[in-house]
Amino acid sequence: MKQTLNLAPPSAADKEFISRIEEAADTSIKLCYQCGKCTAGCPAAFAMDSPPRQIIRYLQLGLVEEVLAAQSIWICATCETCSARCPRGVDIASLMDACRREALAAGKISDKKVAVFNEAFLNGVKNFGRTYEAGLLIQHNLKTMQPLKDAQLGLPMMKRGKVSILPDRIKGKDQVKKIFQRIETMGRE
Ligand code: SF4
Ligand code: SF4
Repeated sequence: MKQTLNLAPPSAADKEFISRIEEAADTSIKLCYQCGKCTAGCPAAFAMDSPPRQIIRYLQLGLVEEVLAAQSIWICATCETCSARCPRGVDIASLMDACRREALAAGKISDKKVAVFNEAFLNGVKNFGRTYEAGLLIQHNLKTMQPLKDAQLGLPMMKRGKVSILPDRIKGKDQVKKIFQRIETMGRE
């Protein structure tokens, strides 16, 4: 189905949204001249509904609803390839991250499974100082009501030592926790 875009001038709230994410990402969407190098290098573009170049174009046109509705912002792996390739120095990866945070704050989560994965991943890093794969999968599966998803892969991976049942003990775990607490405090300020 063809998508119809509303190309009316952006509202004051939309302009504010765009300024906020530019400030959070410390970059400017005005620099983008739509060459598409970001999309060409993005390893996740094949799975996105709106690849990175298109997300930037939406932002340039003030199409905030389209950005918040895009699954792409949840599919983005924050690999930063797009930011590294951009000839205009647009930090697209940080913009994607800022959009995700805005979407979370507004309760507009277009892909709940990815958002749950995102939360479970961050909880693991916060609590154990690094990724805890088994815990991440259990948390994700329970919250998305699919408790046995990929269960058949778990045992063989554990047998081969690819995934451990318990989280690894690492040095500096408490410092990582403090970083999260500091960021949470900053978010409330
Ligand atoms: S690589 Fe940079 S200039 Fe080119 S489309 Fe992407 S953001 Fe725009
Ligand atoms: S940071 Fe996101 S948008 Fe950019 S190349 Fe990586 S996956 Fe694609």
